[in-house]
Amino acid sequence: MNSALTEPTDPSNPTGADRSVDRTDWVAAIPFFAVHVAPLAAFFVVVTWQDWVLCAVLYLTRMFCITAGYHRYFSHRSYRMGRVAQFLMAFGGTTALQKGPLWWAGHHRLHHRFSDQDDDVHSPRDGFWWSHVGWILSTKYKSTDLSTIKDFASFPELRLLERFQWVGPWMLAIACLLIGGWGGLLIGFFLSTVLLWHGTFLVNSMAHLVGRRRYATPDTSRNSMIIAVITGGEGWHNNHHYLPASCRQGFTWWEYDPTWYVLRGLAAIRVVRDLKDPPARLLDQARVRDGAFDIGMFRSYWERAAKVTGERIADLSARPMAPSAEALPRIEPAAAEDAGADVPNEPLSTLSGLISRVLESADQLAASTRRTRKGSVVASTESEATDQRAE
Ligand SMILES: [Zn+2]
Ligand SMILES: [Zn+2]
Repeated sequence: MNSALTEPTDPSNPTGADRSVDRTDWVAAIPFFAVHVAPLAAFFVVVTWQDWVLCAVLYLTRMFCITAGYHRYFSHRSYRMGRVAQFLMAFGGTTALQKGPLWWAGHHRLHHRFSDQDDDVHSPRDGFWWSHVGWILSTKYKSTDLSTIKDFASFPELRLLERFQWVGPWMLAIACLLIGGWGGLLIGFFLSTVLLWHGTFLVNSMAHLVGRRRYATPDTSRNSMIIAVITGGEGWHNNHHYLPASCRQGFTWWEYDPTWYVLRGLAAIRVVRDLKDPPARLLDQARVRDGAFDIGMFRSYWERAAKVTGERIADLSARPMAPSAEALPRIEPAAAEDAGADVPNEPLSTLSGLISRVLESADQLAASTRRTRKGSVVASTESEATDQRAE
């Protein structure tokens, strides 16, 4: 699962994606599927309880490197640490086989910038499989656009780690083999890796599909205790989309967030510092009643409805209309997509124009929500990035 480093791309294509290429890279996906099959070989070797302990330990420690390192530090800069600790955290992250820290955090920043919009790298709007695994295996997001992660790309040791991201996993796999034999390798390393992958991927897929919404964010993020337990505290995803710069993601005492607890412990012994808490005055703003129809859900439902209606209009317009196809006006699909076009194909063109206009209004509303939050709050990941360089 290697990724190439690329230089900043053109501003009209902010995701840095090569839109002409958007398909699964099956050759590069072979190791991904092979890792899934590998633990089955454990049926043919001796497996001890120590191998299961190793599996649990490697799951928990590598999950922490992803949640505290790749996510809360490299993607969001929600706390600070020194250069050595930063490197060790990044190295720990590479052992989770989720590519390098620059690739991971760069794409995650795009997820927050374009949440559930067309340029979101992994919105479940594009299907569960795409948001869970498809986007990782696609050729579209293979490379790392350094313009999304300039702040950390300036560290040569991180660029080196990005390039040699395979070293950590190989070292860990060999260590497991030496410690626990075949059982240690197959259960300790491979099984924990598969569980770790899908645990992490749940945040991209299920955390935008199941759970409750507390804040009216312009996306479909949700809070889920189950996902929080699986991922070490990343299940409070609606909280996180509301205040992404907060290091703490469980905002109440009962919102289980072990990543934050461990970071608090590390702060006590001065390994990390300046953990950002959610600003108290914002915790009660933008609240929605559970089940209420807020802006994020409105956008999601409306866009889905508009897509279905648009397809229906295109379908109708492509079909000859009875009784005489020539006698009746046809609606060109291009016209159906054109927001304000004054075409004489009533009533279908009126309907498509109406849909486009309401969608534009929803977009403007969502953008203004973002602006308000940014203005009053939330240290967006990149705006703060420059003055928070690790020392
Ligand atoms: Zn999200
Ligand atoms: Zn995030």
